[in-house]
Amino acid sequence: MQNLSGELIVVGCLPDIEPKKLKKIFNGRTISTKNLNFIDNYFPENTIKFKDISDSDVISEGITQTQVNKGINMIPLISKTYSHLQKNIIKHLFNRHLLLYLYPHEKNNYHVRISWGCLGSCTYCAIRKAIGTLKSKPIDDCINEFEIGLKQGFKNFIITADDVGAYGVDIGYTFPQLIERLSSFKGEYKISIQDFDPKWIVKYIDDLDGIFKKNRISSINVALQSGSKNILKLMNRYNDIGKISDAIQRLRNSNNDFSLDTHFILGFPSETREDFHQTMKFVIDNGFDMGFIYRFSLRSNTKADKIEPKTPQDELDYRMLTGMKILKNHKYKVLSLSKNSFYSFYK
Ligand code: SF4
Repeated sequence: MQNLSGELIVVGCLPDIEPKKLKKIFNGRTISTKNLNFIDNYFPENTIKFKDISDSDVISEGITQTQVNKGINMIPLISKTYSHLQKNIIKHLFNRHLLLYLYPHEKNNYHVRISWGCLGSCTYCAIRKAIGTLKSKPIDDCINEFEIGLKQGFKNFIITADDVGAYGVDIGYTFPQLIERLSSFKGEYKISIQDFDPKWIVKYIDDLDGIFKKNRISSINVALQSGSKNILKLMNRYNDIGKISDAIQRLRNSNNDFSLDTHFILGFPSETREDFHQTMKFVIDNGFDMGFIYRFSLRSNTKADKIEPKTPQDELDYRMLTGMKILKNHKYKVLSLSKNSFYSFYK
């Protein structure tokens, strides 16, 4: 990109996560994920300000699901770049059949981002530096954006954020209050909840129980990360495994008609084989419908770097392969999405 004639501005997490590495190859202007409104400072001549543009329905900065559905022919350059990126991501990371299996109605999805940033400080996480602390979108804006999607005829609503369950803590609301209102419109539509930290399920289980009974939720992705109390402690995450399991089972008992999804990491520093088996057991015992397994990979300048011992690469191979076998033995289909570092499983 530096060979092109225009000025290159690097936007996203990289300037905060890897500032030294970036400096070695790039000396220009940057915009951090947590300060996207800087776009307005860099382009003062723009008559429509970035801060005034609603981000509902945005699936990638500047590209909306509606645009994708229309083939994004309004902006040929973005269209070209996006389809090129999309093709490569699918080619290198995903199995297309899996994508279509998992997201058969992708074209009908409407995304509503409800907040930015998170309240966590997980020891393996690098993006926290780039996304900053929680900033919830005003509840009326979330509702208005949702209604716009409904009026446009969308049926599948994806509620997304960096820390979905934390919604509202900074503005005097709670996630259940928001989802209750989003579930109360008339008509046939479903809501999918992304990346839900288990601590919020435990905290809000009484409210969520009632909401799930209404049969509006099509899926919830529980960001488990590990089924071992010890490892969750070292990850600096909520670690009452018993309460997490009880809350998940309560949701299941409220309504069986939703997909219970998860993702977790294998091989976090100091994870023993017993910790590994606890994680696998947790996933199987709690009857998750689908999920992703990530092989631990150390991110620069994270606290996990100081946790010893690191899991050797051959042991990481063993856990990834054994994890896959255990799931297969429990009737899951497993797909390797990236050579023993990223698996997907589903029933
Ligand atoms: S993993 Fe998620 S919750 Fe934890 S610090 Fe990173 S963004 Fe926040």
